[in-house]
Amino acid sequence: MNTYIDSHTHLHFKDFDDDRQAVIARAFDAGVRQIISLGTDVASSKRTLEISREYPTVFAATGIHPSEAHLAEKNAVTELEALAQSSTQVVAIGEIGLDFYWDKTHHKAQYAMFGKMLRLAEKLKLPVVIHNRSAQREMEWFFQEEQFKTVDGVMHCFAGDVIDARFYLDMGLHISFTANITYQNFSALDVVRYVPLDRLLLETDSPYIPPRQFRKQRNEPAHVVHVAEKLAEIHGKSVAEIAAITTENTRRLFRLPEVLAV
Ligand SMILES: [Zn+2]
Repeated sequence: MNTYIDSHTHLHFKDFDDDRQAVIARAFDAGVRQIISLGTDVASSKRTLEISREYPTVFAATGIHPSEAHLAEKNAVTELEALAQSSTQVVAIGEIGLDFYWDKTHHKAQYAMFGKMLRLAEKLKLPVVIHNRSAQREMEWFFQEEQFKTVDGVMHCFAGDVIDARFYLDMGLHISFTANITYQNFSALDVVRYVPLDRLLLETDSPYIPPRQFRKQRNEPAHVVHVAEKLAEIHGKSVAEIAAITTENTRRLFRLPEVLAV
């Protein structure tokens, strides 16, 4: 059986309150042996860590999402630092980044928080999970302006073009795609093909972005298998190869423990 890792979900969302345990069990049965769940502010980062303590296959990322940046309290960064250091279940700083699609009014707060989160990750020697929506040029400008030459982490739900992909790959970053690659109107096949297999991760971003056949339903980590299937098709590889290499990449990046394949 193939082993997968869902490198990006939000199990703390209320969408999972009624059946979180069943969702995690279903993922396990589908071969998804490790899951990284991400907080989006201090409170949800705490909750995410609680969930990861409850379920041994779940790991936590703690961070402040760009859409929450302007709401963060003064001591938010200090709190996150303490939280990230409190448990080995915390494997990354995320979800962080820039989002000028949903939030058009707090650009300054977003830049400031993104910088703080990147520096916190550097200090704690943790990889980052980066969200970038409608800020392709701005993010590249920010990295150059703030002199981040290399960053350990992943550009999640990648929506840039091949030139953007090159920029992030040159910085040492990984790239992950969600089930949006299964949609009929998905046109960036060249970008998916361009990302070398050793930099590729799988993710669902559940409860959002369900695969095509589950459209309008809640997404969940078990569905990461459909992302792997589509990537296999696009890259001309077997699903087993995609599962094996993305599992290895994700484990290496987030320093996850080995699990035995079943
Ligand atoms: Zn997310």
